[in-house]
This record gives sequence, C-alpha cells and structure tokens, in this order.
Amino acid sequence: MGVVLQEIRAIENYMVLPDEEVAARIEAARLELGSRVVILGHHYQRDDVIRHADLTGDSYQLSVMASQTEAEYIVFCGVHFMAESADILGKDSQHVILPDLGAGCSMADMATIDQVEDAWEQLREIGVLESKVAPITYMNSSAAIKAFCGRNEGVVCTSSNAIPLFDIYLKEFDKMFFFPDQHLGRNTGAKFGIPLDKMALWNPQEELGGNTEEQLHEAKLILWRGHCSVHGRFKPWHVDKVRSEIPGVQVLVHPECMREVVEISDLDGSTSFIIKTVENAPAGSKWAIGTEVNLVNRLQQRFPDKVVRLLAPDLCMCATMYRIAPQKLAWAVENLLDGNVVNEIVVENETKHFAGIALERMISMTENQKN
Ligand code: SF4
Repeated sequence: MGVVLQEIRAIENYMVLPDEEVAARIEAARLELGSRVVILGHHYQRDDVIRHADLTGDSYQLSVMASQTEAEYIVFCGVHFMAESADILGKDSQHVILPDLGAGCSMADMATIDQVEDAWEQLREIGVLESKVAPITYMNSSAAIKAFCGRNEGVVCTSSNAIPLFDIYLKEFDKMFFFPDQHLGRNTGAKFGIPLDKMALWNPQEELGGNTEEQLHEAKLILWRGHCSVHGRFKPWHVDKVRSEIPGVQVLVHPECMREVVEISDLDGSTSFIIKTVENAPAGSKWAIGTEVNLVNRLQQRFPDKVVRLLAPDLCMCATMYRIAPQKLAWAVENLLDGNVVNEIVVENETKHFAGIALERMISMTENQKN
C-alpha cells in the first residue's frame, strides 16, 4: 500500500489557538515523534517557546549538539542563519526546520554576499590583496558569506572564540576583513592593542567603503559596518546610571555592544561567558547585564540570591527571534506528524562545502590552541 500524503496544515488555523492548547499540542507531538525530532531553543528565545526545547544554547553549540543526535528533524527556534548553520553541520539525513521564515537576523542581513564580493574586488583593484588579507566572518552571517571565507583562507568565529582566532590570524596575515559585526571586530581588535586609526570601517553603500586607498592599505583590520540592533541599544550613560543607582554593581556586557560601552564595563564576553559568570558569582553579588532581555530575565529567576538586572531600562529584545511563536512551533511539529516538512532550510551543496571548510578551520584552530 502506498504512503497516503496528508495535506499541509494551514498556519492560519494555529495562530488563533489559545496558548494552553498550543502548549499541550506541542508536547503531544513531541511525545509521538520521540527521538525523531529535536527542538532547539536559542538563549534569546521567549519563555513560552524555550519550555518546549530539548536543547538550549547559543547558535553554534545548538547546531553541534543537534548534529550529534539521531533526530531526523531539527526544529530550530532561533533565526535564519542559525538554521543554515545547523544544516551545514548536520547529517545528510537530517532536515532543519525554521518555524517562521521571517525570523531573520538584522545583523546578518547587513552584509550580503554580493556586497562582500564587490568589496573584495575593490580591495583587489587597489592592490590591498597583494598583502595577505584574511576574511573572517562572525557566526551571525549567511551561509554564502561563510563559504566566501572558506574559499579565501578565512574562517568563521563565535563571540567565544574570536580572541584565539584573531591571535592566529594576526600572526599569519597582514590584515583581516571582518564581517558583519563592527563591534565584535573592534572590541576584539582592541584586546590585541590595534589602535582605532588602524581599523577602517567599510560602508557597503560607498566606494571603497567610504575610505581612501591609503587608509585601506594602512589598516590592520577592516570592519564591515554591521551591528546588532539589540546590543546596539546599550549606551555608556546606562553604565553610569546603573552604577549610581546600585552601589557595588558589576557591569557585564556582550562584545556585540559598542566599544564605548565595553571599555567602561567591568567584564565582557559571549553569552556562555555571561551565564557562567553569573552562575559562579557569590550570593549577594550585583550584576547589570548588557544582552538580550529574555536571557537576563531567566538568569534573574534562576538566581534570586543575586541582583541580576538588564543594563538598560527599555526592552532589549530580539524582535526577529520573537517571531517564533509557540503557535508556529505547534504548526511545524504537527505537520511532521503527517510527514510534511514545512519551512525546511536547505543550504545548497557548494555553499555548504565551502562554509563547512570555514567552520572546520574554526574548530581545528581552536582545538589546536587548547592543546
Ligand atoms: S540578538 Fe542581534 S545578532 Fe542575535 S539574532 Fe537578534 S538581531 Fe541577530
């Protein structure tokens, strides 16, 4: 007897469902699918979605963890570039699903592959590529840009391993072209003592990125003009204000925050670093944290014996990640029950191959540094 194909369930029917019903249906579908599905929840995801996640973490950790499972279906409650990374790192037999295709990342969208290739060509025309230039991209970028780095001796980095990778590349190359987050690039470059006048900012809307030929020849680091709209909301005056309001508070921020904030903070580091720092801090310690609000709120709930608050008083939420509503997760997993893979994210083979090279380089270089 042939397989009976079921019609794809309509998303509209889910958007009107009450939250409790949706939560119960997601759990019922998870139970029925068992180990065939793994649901990933990024640290910045909303509570009503994270409660259904099998695994939580940052984008790279989640992609690696999912690839190590035998699940046929990886439902990524994150944003588009994360689902692409899960597809690159996952097994051929695994299907990656993003419950809302509109869940993009404003930072990743600030650098398109056409703009990056055009910028590289301009550097070639003025002779900058006659010196050794490495393209390095943050994990928060499209698969096509990761592949560009893979093809051109470059690498992918995360906010956890940017420092060891800069260390290697600064020794082996004359300069680096860093995409798409200017702040992570600048903050990491500053840790190696690169002066700001040796960091050129590349504006993709302008010829030579808005620089002179001389500036680009002189630069040690060329920074793409991208930023995270969430971390960009933290300003130096927030640091001053929280210090005046909470004596003894320590300011802990993500390196996607602007340089002016990072340099007056007490500590800066990746999402994992932020979590570990608060976990290991003594009871009674006070923390003002400059990162996404859902993560900060969960830290606050986990550690009632410590003062944990958001650095800025206004809502610093990743609006695109918020698009993954539980109703959309329910729609994705119930379609899987019918054998329908909806919103599948597939990176085409050549891009996958070269992006995989850039990611493998990252893994082996950081492993070598540890040994
Ligand atoms: S928090 Fe910023 S960098 Fe992270 S997914 Fe949202 S917009 Fe992108």
